[in-house]
Amino acid sequence: MSKEPATVATETAMDALQKLEKAEKASREAAMLLQQTFASLNEAVFIVQSGTRVIVDANSAVETMFGYAHHEIVGKLTSCLHLNEQMFTRFGSEMIKGYQEKGYYETIYQMIRKDGTVFESEHCVTPIRDISGTITSHVCVVRDISERVHAERALVEKSRLLRELNDSLEARIEQAVEELRKKDDVLASQNRLLVDLAPEAIIVFDVELDRIVDANAKAEQLFGCSREILLMSTPRQFYMQKQPDGRPPETSFFENSDRAIAGEVLVIERAIRSAAGTEVVCEVRLVRLPSPQSLLIRASFFDITERMQTQKKLTRALASEHRLNEEQRQFMGLVSHELRTPLSIIDGSAQLLALAACKDKECLAHANRILSSTQRLSTLIDTCLTEERLCTSGWTPNIVSEDIRCLTRNVVAQAQAGTERHLIKCDPEELPDRYDCDPMLLQVLLNNLLDNAVKYSPKGGEINVRGWRADNGDVCFEVTDQGIGIAADQLEKAFDRFYRIWQIPGIAGAGLGLHIVKRIAELHGGTASCSSVQGCGSTFTVRLCNPRNS
Ligand code: ADP
Repeated sequence: MSKEPATVATETAMDALQKLEKAEKASREAAMLLQQTFASLNEAVFIVQSGTRVIVDANSAVETMFGYAHHEIVGKLTSCLHLNEQMFTRFGSEMIKGYQEKGYYETIYQMIRKDGTVFESEHCVTPIRDISGTITSHVCVVRDISERVHAERALVEKSRLLRELNDSLEARIEQAVEELRKKDDVLASQNRLLVDLAPEAIIVFDVELDRIVDANAKAEQLFGCSREILLMSTPRQFYMQKQPDGRPPETSFFENSDRAIAGEVLVIERAIRSAAGTEVVCEVRLVRLPSPQSLLIRASFFDITERMQTQKKLTRALASEHRLNEEQRQFMGLVSHELRTPLSIIDGSAQLLALAACKDKECLAHANRILSSTQRLSTLIDTCLTEERLCTSGWTPNIVSEDIRCLTRNVVAQAQAGTERHLIKCDPEELPDRYDCDPMLLQVLLNNLLDNAVKYSPKGGEINVRGWRADNGDVCFEVTDQGIGIAADQLEKAFDRFYRIWQIPGIAGAGLGLHIVKRIAELHGGTASCSSVQGCGSTFTVRLCNPRNS
């Protein structure tokens, strides 16, 4: 059954009403949402009337950004937000142009707040049109970008400063490089001068090219050819087959080059024959030259031919002197030995003569003179024989442990018995109980020093003998007298063989006593020395090394 037309119309109207209500509700909700969104934006949003450019609405962010409350800004011209009229006008015309080109307008602009402060802002303006397409208003979204702009500006400033710094650094580096180049040039020319004026022949040898790459004038002289020819040669060409080290030059040449390249400074001797045939012996100093690209060796040649000849002569002279000395020593030994027998016969006979002629005063005096002369002669022979024995090469002392305090006292007592004019004091208490030495030799050493102290103190006086152990365990003896003394320039010579300083009548000697003292000290690994004041006395000091230290 069909419905009444009126009923149908009513139902349709009711439906339409319900739909309208729904639509209104939806529209209200949408408007609220828009309002909320509008209010919650960080960007300032203005709705501006087209043509008049009067602000018709603004969100709450406007107050934070521009300082105007909503009621203060709504109804005002946007010119209040611009720096001046001119900028306000320019914004408007650029906005129209933007609409025409892209349909919206985007720009970065300086704006002014209510309190007069200026800030950078980013703008996006979109037109709102009616159904006919006519622009009725504009939605302008403004973002405060002053912080970003500041940061960008700071960045730009920083990069400008960096560029400047970079530019100035580059300029300074260039200047420094230029100065270094100049200095290098000066150094190079100084070096050149030094090399050219050097007293020795200098060449620079390139190991890889196997040829000389530089040479000074002295090298031209030494090798007997021009620089041009030298620069095409290798030093090997001038090395003679027979070299001072006895090795074939080809082998040693490469070995020495390798060692020099490895950083060693080599000093070798090379026999050289120049292009002109002159033969010389040179001391060659090899040193690697700093060079990044090549392996260079600087070789300097000193002509030592003369030095070698002198050295040879000297060696020959020394050998001959040594031989002569040896012969002399042997002869002295032989003579001394041969003299002993006749001397003991003379001595024995003189003693018998003295006994037989005890009543004949004149005869007795002669016999006594013979006896004292044979005594002197016998001492001299003993000294010569001792010296010969001590200086024979290969002779070694007989080292045993000895009570050296007792030995010292005995030697002193014996010496005191031989003189009335001297008082010999002995202080051996600081000596060790026992010491490893050759007792016979130590006795001879002390005897000689005491004999001299007595002999060279003709007016008598005190003689002091002291012995002690040094900190390192060595043993030292000191004999001091108040005699004639020794001049400073003679102190060392006094220990030389056969050297006698004072040729005083009545003081006999052969110049061997101190030589023997020194030799005995040396045989014990020690030394002998003397200090003296002329006219006041002398002190002789002997040091014997502790055999356990040596
Ligand atoms: P000499 O047999 O002549 O004494 P020495 O070798 O013992 O030989 O001494 C060498 C020289 O040193 C002596 O000739 C003497 O001039 C000097 N001489 C040695 N001892 C003393 C001393 N105690 N005082 C002064 N001169 C000394």
